[in-house]
Amino acid sequence: MPGTATREGAPSTAQSGQAVGEFDVVIVGAGFAGMYLLHRLRGLGLTARIFEAATGVGGTWYWNRYPGARCDVESMQYSHSFSKELQQEWHWSERFAAQPEILAYANHIADRFDLRRDIQFETRVTAAHFDEKTRRWHVTTDRGNRVTAQHCVMATGCLSTARLPDIPGRETFAGPTYHTGYWPHEGVDFTGKRVGVIGTGSSAIQAIPVIAAQAAELTVFQRTPNYSIPSRNRPMTPDYEGPWKAQYDARRAKARTMRTGILYDATDANYGVNDVSAMDVSPEERRRVYEKRWATGGTSFMAAFNDLITNQASNDTASEFVRSKIREIVKDPATAEILCPTDYPIGTKRICVDTNYFETYNQPNVKLVDLKATPIEAITPTGVKTTSATFDFDAIVFATGFDAMTGALAAIDIRGRDGLALVDKWEGGPQTYLGLMSAGMPNLFMITGPGSPSVLSNMIVSIEQHVDWMIDLIAHMRTNGIDTVEPTAEAEGNWGQHVNEAGHRTLYVKAASWYMGANIPGKPRVFMPYIGGVGVYRQECDAVAANGYEGLVMTPRNARAAVAAE
Ligand code: FAD
Ligand code: NAP
Repeated sequence: MPGTATREGAPSTAQSGQAVGEFDVVIVGAGFAGMYLLHRLRGLGLTARIFEAATGVGGTWYWNRYPGARCDVESMQYSHSFSKELQQEWHWSERFAAQPEILAYANHIADRFDLRRDIQFETRVTAAHFDEKTRRWHVTTDRGNRVTAQHCVMATGCLSTARLPDIPGRETFAGPTYHTGYWPHEGVDFTGKRVGVIGTGSSAIQAIPVIAAQAAELTVFQRTPNYSIPSRNRPMTPDYEGPWKAQYDARRAKARTMRTGILYDATDANYGVNDVSAMDVSPEERRRVYEKRWATGGTSFMAAFNDLITNQASNDTASEFVRSKIREIVKDPATAEILCPTDYPIGTKRICVDTNYFETYNQPNVKLVDLKATPIEAITPTGVKTTSATFDFDAIVFATGFDAMTGALAAIDIRGRDGLALVDKWEGGPQTYLGLMSAGMPNLFMITGPGSPSVLSNMIVSIEQHVDWMIDLIAHMRTNGIDTVEPTAEAEGNWGQHVNEAGHRTLYVKAASWYMGANIPGKPRVFMPYIGGVGVYRQECDAVAANGYEGLVMTPRNARAAVAAE
């Protein structure tokens, strides 16, 4: 019951702020998800503690400090909606804010809502075990904390476990190496340096133009080319910001109903989504539509027609349009061809958004190496050796991505009923109910977990939806004297099938993407996010709640028998 929750043991603070004792909720991670959850839990009157591996808040925006890092969902929308005051007082300086500004925003949230007193930094959660007798989670950390909690929430992020490539000799390079996802706080000055960048995903595509502006020589090692759309980033203007702030509530409400949780054009009757098949218009009209989207910039390109992600023929037209742009921009035809993606449909690997990415290859100090033709054999003390050449560098940047969606969860020894290890349960791919919970793991939640729209959406919209739903469930449990909640195996199985079928109705499954786990050797090839769309998914979650938390089993306090919620 909000405000009157029972406290089953007062948490205390041991030396140097280390938590001991019992909490209502332990949260792992202090990115946007963990922080918003903490704020909402306080509203319920519950005790909560966040453990965060970093020295500060912000998650993604704390770690990814590489040059050029910025969001590609417009900042007016890639921001929280839960506080009217916050959304009115915060001013974004650009259409797509850069990492330092987003990190400042995260810090502002921590300060404004006084969150830090319940966050223990520089502490990595190593294990979370469910104790059947007490029905509490026992959480341990690398700092020696041992705490118990009724609920344990993994706000560990979908893209928080950086992945270094298994290239022989990686450790032997004599100079400095950097991963975009663990960038040094003090920054890196590449002036006058010979730099090698391995990878050409979203992070590399943002970093390469900025590094190229500094470095004496930049060599980019590309295994798979990517489709990238210009961001058309620009300073925020009062003309743009004003109407957003005046109509924030209505626009946010509309965005929550959209497939991606984004309004591509808030002033358009269809919010920037063209509800027409690319096959139903003439080639001239298609070109006109694509040109307009290219000029507008950003991920709205993928909403140019309504079937780009489901119809191969339609997708081919968009893919070919972007290839034509690459050939137009890149002066050297051989380099342009190497940069043209040809073996997967546009959008089935995360679409990239850039500032002068393709233009960068026209600079005389920038070289592209096609690893499909000449793979890397080894990293050596002086640089990189491919099957056809050796390259000497002063520094190497790994822009090689993440063990996405499951990596941070797998790194924690999570054990539910009967000692069931999450990693064992998920050996064949993640199994969740709504991407929020997993059977056999009572009172364990994931925010934006696999099986939810998460990485296919404006993540802040999805984070807020998950936290709000979870808060309602926890409040329901308190009101009704419920001790534990967990999905039935049947509900989980049905949801998994639904997620899988939805994925297979699209072209996504045709690409060797991190959505499919394809970037991690040995990871099961399963399309992990839920493609049903943010609006539809929200309705599905709301229907589960409205039907008495259908698919969840609830165990009353002081009772051993499980009672089906329905
Ligand atoms: P995170 O921000 O990843 O935070 C998770 C936190 O958990 C981290 O601080 C981590 O240190 C901590 N943690 C993990 N495991 C442990 C452990 N065992 N113990 C203690 N702490 C732990 N999304 C968009 O919607 N739009 C964008 O434009 C966008 N741009 C992005 C750009 C980059 C470079 C990257 C990498 C991702 C981007 N994303 C974007 C996705 C982004 O991850 C989310 O938008 C959002 O920031 C996720 O917030 P989170 O709190 O869920 O997770
Ligand atoms: P990524 O998309 O997974 O890209 C990793 C790159 O490294 C790929 O080009 C990959 O090639 C390459 N690579 C990996 N291992 C390699 C090896 N052994 N040898 C050669 N190349 C190798 O990772 P990311 O760029 O960090 O982006 C991850 C996600 O974070 C994005 O998809 C997006 O969701 C988010 N992000 C968003 C933004 C933004 O604009 N807002 C910016 C950065 C990141 P292959 O494709 O061949 O595997």
